[in-house]
Amino acid sequence: MAMTVNLLDFDAQRFATFLEERGEKPFRAKQLMRWIHHFGVSDFAAMTDIAKVTREKLAAEAVITPPSLMLEQASEDGTRKWLLDVGTGNGVEAVFIPEDDRGTLCVSSQVGCALECTFCSTGRQGFNRNLSTAEIIGQLWWANKALGRDPKGDRIVSNVVMMGMGEPLANFDNVVAAMRLMLDDHAYGLSRRRVTLSTSGLVPQMDRLREACPVALAVSLHAPNDALRDEIVPINKKYPLKELMAACQRYLEKAPRDFITFEYVMLDGVNDTMEHARQLVALVKDVPCKFNLIPFNPFPNSGYDRSKPDAIRRFRDHLIQAGYIVTVRKTRGDDIDAACGQLAGQVKDKTKRTLRLAAEGKTTNIIQLTRE
Ligand code: SAH
Ligand code: SF4
Repeated sequence: MAMTVNLLDFDAQRFATFLEERGEKPFRAKQLMRWIHHFGVSDFAAMTDIAKVTREKLAAEAVITPPSLMLEQASEDGTRKWLLDVGTGNGVEAVFIPEDDRGTLCVSSQVGCALECTFCSTGRQGFNRNLSTAEIIGQLWWANKALGRDPKGDRIVSNVVMMGMGEPLANFDNVVAAMRLMLDDHAYGLSRRRVTLSTSGLVPQMDRLREACPVALAVSLHAPNDALRDEIVPINKKYPLKELMAACQRYLEKAPRDFITFEYVMLDGVNDTMEHARQLVALVKDVPCKFNLIPFNPFPNSGYDRSKPDAIRRFRDHLIQAGYIVTVRKTRGDDIDAACGQLAGQVKDKTKRTLRLAAEGKTTNIIQLTRE
């Protein structure tokens, strides 16, 4: 008997192969993708424009199985968070951040992360496994199901950032397949400018991404010299700053945007002095870029503090005076632990804790509980 496949794992290419092998017409791929990703259908019986015999044939060897929802929470500021079951007691999170002109979904790519950046709670948890394409695109699938469309018929989720748990370029094939679905008109139809991948700087994979799926790129810089970056972003020892800057320049040869976004976490007394700001300006001089300063989000035993507001302001002003566009990330969803670097901290414990509080009626921001 043929093995059952999950159609949520398929991008257009894999649909084409699958259907061709079964003697089905290529246009079925578009039909199936529209049912699954436009309309959020997970049951073949609902696909009314596909002949019943074909549906039955499909159902015999394929399923449409999104990751199951453990918990959905809403913050007072409109931030929403979904915790998805990825087996063995682990969860991954997707976070929706509404803004005036857009709605951004922050998507996870791995359970944990192997790269051990010292200020990141995901890194502290270690690495468990890569998410499948279905588990990655499933986050967008669930968010769209929950949030739907605005009165004009546009989807509420207008942007995706691969900035949740995990290093997306360390799970290259599954992430690229999921991003291709995000861009596909028959699936989510987002423009390449509205999908951003954030990497800690895996240089060879940045080159591969440029060829495979050149979405907007954010690079987690966090330090302006190798000595400090070796310490807080250890992958720097393998791909030091000179190589990273060169990779950024190469990326822009094909990128849909003509700049890289450099992310810079603001750690009190570690990387936030004026000397660091001056070094930073010198470092990036050949890379068209803008900056996103992220005030550090604390977690238990992190050993770091968030930079003082004054230090952040001075740092920002120095970059602005050097001619750069700088944004300082606002902390959102604090009340539901949805801020950067806080995702699924101590996965097992926290999930249990939140579920217990919900059962006792002690927390108010739970929308839906699908299992104990
Ligand atoms: N692994 C990828 C993407 C996920 S992290 C990367 O590192 O780029 C998304 C962003 O949040 C990264 O810039 C990351 O360095 C930052 N981050 C991690 N922990 C943080 C924390 N505790 N406070 C603020 N930002 C953090
Ligand atoms: Fe991994 Fe990114 Fe966290 Fe570093 S910052 S440990 S690369 S998730």
